[in-house]
Amino acid sequence: MPFDVTDQPGEQWKKIAKLHKQFAHLSSERLIKLIRNAGIIDKSVGDIVDDVTTSCDVCKRFKKAPPRPAVGFPLATVFNETVVLDLKVFRSGYVGVCALLACRSSYLSHVASMIQAPAIQRQSK
Ligand SMILES: [Zn+2]
Repeated sequence: MPFDVTDQPGEQWKKIAKLHKQFAHLSSERLIKLIRNAGIIDKSVGDIVDDVTTSCDVCKRFKKAPPRPAVGFPLATVFNETVVLDLKVFRSGYVGVCALLACRSSYLSHVASMIQAPAIQRQSK
């Protein structure tokens, strides 16, 4: 089935879709390059290739997810400007992690008494 630009638009779409599938779902840029290397230089082929690749269900399903925006704490410039605390339940108490972002140091300690005391006071009111 040779590719001919004089085919009906529906036939061109089918042939390009077949090429797209046979070459393992090539991107539109690579498929256009492949078709041009075969000696077909037609502007309408690029539009059809774009239509085929954007409407392909397999490509939609396995498309790379866009990168998530990086979220972080503001950078600290002086000591104690940004302090990060995290708690983790460990056995019967809590383990706390304190990190100072300015000097990039962190501390790990058992903080069960600091956490339980305010919680008991709030529940008794
Ligand atoms: Zn595809």
